[in-house]
Amino acid sequence: MTCKHEHGDTLLGMWVCGQCYKKLHERPRTYRMERTTEPDGSDRRSLRQIVVHCPISTAECGVTLRMFVTWMVARLVVLTRGEMPHDEALDYSIGILEMLGDEFGGDATVWDRESAYEIVAEDMRYWDADECQSN
Ligand SMILES: [Zn+2]
Repeated sequence: MTCKHEHGDTLLGMWVCGQCYKKLHERPRTYRMERTTEPDGSDRRSLRQIVVHCPISTAECGVTLRMFVTWMVARLVVLTRGEMPHDEALDYSIGILEMLGDEFGGDATVWDRESAYEIVAEDMRYWDADECQSN
């Protein structure tokens, strides 16, 4: 899976896109060529290849995608009293964000700890309802 979005963060040893929350195997990078001036001051210039890594998703308040998801995971583990293992909670948290569809760092959400807890609590409100329907 791949996408062309421009920021994300490393979670579970994978790169998670901060816009569509797709999981990629590695941090996207682009290459660009940069002209360098020779140190001897001559007019001769050479081209150098620069590797540009995809930037870390960071909200204006300084919270990164990884921090935010870590708060969600902590909350999930507490609220399920440990029934949901850490890795599963992480995967689940990314799923919630994907479903909400708000770009990380965007204006639609306040990207703080309280908000991370709220998103989890809101999602869990529907858990019992689902169970009732399947019974
Ligand atoms: Zn993406």
